[in-house]
Amino acid sequence: MEASGTAEARRPPHVAMLVTPGMGHLIPLAELAKRLAARHGVTATLITFASTASATQRSFLASLPAAISSVSLPPVDLSDLPPDATIETLMSEECARLVPALTGLLSGLTETTRLVAYVADLFGTDSFDAAVAAGVPRRYLFHPGNLHGLTFILHLPEIDVSMPGEFRDLAEPVWLPGCVPIPGPDVMSSFQDKSDPCYRWMVHHAKRYLESEAILVNSFDAVEPDAARVLSHPEPGRPPVYNIGPLIRADAGEEPRAACLDWLDRQPPKSVIFVSFGSGGSLPTEQMHELALGLELSGQRFLWVVRSPSDEGTVNANYYDAESKKDPLAYLPEGLVERTKDVGLLVPSWAPQTEVLAHEATGGFLVHCGWNSVLESLVHGMPMIAWPLFAEQRQNAVMLSEGVGVALRVQPTKMKEEIAAAVRELMAGQDKGAQVRSNVAALQKAAMEALLEGGAATTALDEVVRKWTHEYC
Ligand code: UDP
Repeated sequence: MEASGTAEARRPPHVAMLVTPGMGHLIPLAELAKRLAARHGVTATLITFASTASATQRSFLASLPAAISSVSLPPVDLSDLPPDATIETLMSEECARLVPALTGLLSGLTETTRLVAYVADLFGTDSFDAAVAAGVPRRYLFHPGNLHGLTFILHLPEIDVSMPGEFRDLAEPVWLPGCVPIPGPDVMSSFQDKSDPCYRWMVHHAKRYLESEAILVNSFDAVEPDAARVLSHPEPGRPPVYNIGPLIRADAGEEPRAACLDWLDRQPPKSVIFVSFGSGGSLPTEQMHELALGLELSGQRFLWVVRSPSDEGTVNANYYDAESKKDPLAYLPEGLVERTKDVGLLVPSWAPQTEVLAHEATGGFLVHCGWNSVLESLVHGMPMIAWPLFAEQRQNAVMLSEGVGVALRVQPTKMKEEIAAAVRELMAGQDKGAQVRSNVAALQKAAMEALLEGGAATTALDEVVRKWTHEYC
């Protein structure tokens, strides 16, 4: 008869991952789980929140390989929170209130699987309490943003004490080790108002980041080389940081081919600019009109994922559910659809972004600078126009345009003439556009190399899994 320890060691290692709301959190964690399964034979459970059970999310989860299961936590009552609570606050509160349910779930997994590690993502640090209570051996933090964002978070507790006033009022940019200087108003939106509970939550999460055994980051060295250098040096009290990106969605799974790809098939190579604002972003009507007219004026071909406007001032109105509730095309300037029908395609709410970016007809990306979209753009060699909306998108825009030079940034006025000029420059210009296109090509190469055998991302993940499996018993 076999010793029970040996039998245990033969079960596949299992990892539990908490996915805070948003496709931008789910997609990279699912991709990490896929890589762990394919390369290391690790199985995974993705734990999602009841608040995000949208059709898009359900079909995405259903398309994952058998080694990755998913389970939803029970619904939580958040009706006591003020109506203007930010998404960061909602996610953090939902997570904190779910600790008892999560403890039960993780305890169950410790009995039914060989659970070697627990991974929380950025707004889920309170869930570490559940992992401790359930006796999970290791706790990791997955940071779905980049090293710049991580550096800001790690420095926040100290800045909170040393900086009077608000970031948005700073006369000088913020200089942090290894980072491109970020003007105060461009620092991530959750840091911008000290009186908002969201800010306190961020200070809280920043402190709890330090409780993880290591921080896994979805970035790669070449896109922020100085930050990578700084964070690769061990620092007392700070967990080691592993750059394991770019983790991007590799394929569309079982989903049927979208009609917009058939449209792209009929366009010349590199002729189309793709326009999208992530899984939840939408524009106020006025900006939506300027963008529409700017695209028309540019004379370039375009494929635009259109959402209903956010006229109540919330640019992330669709965050929890990407499907627009009304027909978004009804909000466009009169006659635009008809006038642009030979050069433009307008897709309501959602498009298969990675396939659009991989298509040979696509030649540029007007993007909200959500980090997943940026990585997808770089992996597919797409130059960008940065049009940031919320969260850490403005500081990403600074880093991309002024750091590595892979994006043109349109100014906040965003009038149609300026948009048209930026689109033309990006797609065909011989000045800044040409420079951006060449910089992107170099970064695309570096991104692909990170993922090869012996590449930085592969090596980093190998090291993490070695810790999970060799030191566990
Ligand atoms: N996405 C997509 N189709 C869309 C909009 C978004 O497939 O129409 C995917 C996109 O490819 C990316 C994710 O949703 O993987 C958005 O993540 P990101 O970090 O860019 O932005 P967020 O949604 O968090 O603002």
